[in-house]
Amino acid sequence: MKQTKIVPFEKAGGIGLAALAKRLLGDVEHHGITDIIPFKVEDIQVAEWVHLKCRYGCSRYNTSWCCPPATPEPDKIRRILSEYTSALLLEGRKTCTDFYRNNGRKRTIQVRCWKETVSLERKLFLEGYYKAFSLVGECCALCKACAYPDACRFPQEKRPSVESFSIDVFGTLDKLGRATRLATRTTDTFNYYGIILLD
Ligand code: SF4
Repeated sequence: MKQTKIVPFEKAGGIGLAALAKRLLGDVEHHGITDIIPFKVEDIQVAEWVHLKCRYGCSRYNTSWCCPPATPEPDKIRRILSEYTSALLLEGRKTCTDFYRNNGRKRTIQVRCWKETVSLERKLFLEGYYKAFSLVGECCALCKACAYPDACRFPQEKRPSVESFSIDVFGTLDKLGRATRLATRTTDTFNYYGIILLD
């Protein structure tokens, strides 16, 4: 019996991830994402201490579908990441005098960033990166108050945050040779980061 030859997807028309990242940046940079950097998933630093910081000292613990304990434990995360080879780092910049507040202006920025990341994930899927999965910067703010533990109101846009995936963001940036610094004043400009996992 003649065997059917499986033809793999040609991702992004064969232009390569670096060229695709450049093209995607052209679509989004006016919305706050300032850079899209391809990198290897093996450079993502997963650390138990990040999970510890979620469990102790964060007011969002056990209040959101995008944060622990609704998100996977570090061991499971390591197994999930082992199924991916490459990723895109999304870098955005903002000055947020509302950082420690929970107001409409802060939420508008968070929602925009969230939707932008999920829409990039969708574009990548359509370009042939069928395993594309987003980890979004900060926390889901699509609802004023998360419905957790009741059913999510927008399950198609529900994703874990980068931090909830126990990712040491500073350690990962260091590994990638990307300079960053901690914003210590509410008037400082700071960077935020999302990640889209790919294969
Ligand atoms: S969409 Fe709403 S209910 Fe779902 S995770 Fe986000 S804030 Fe929570």
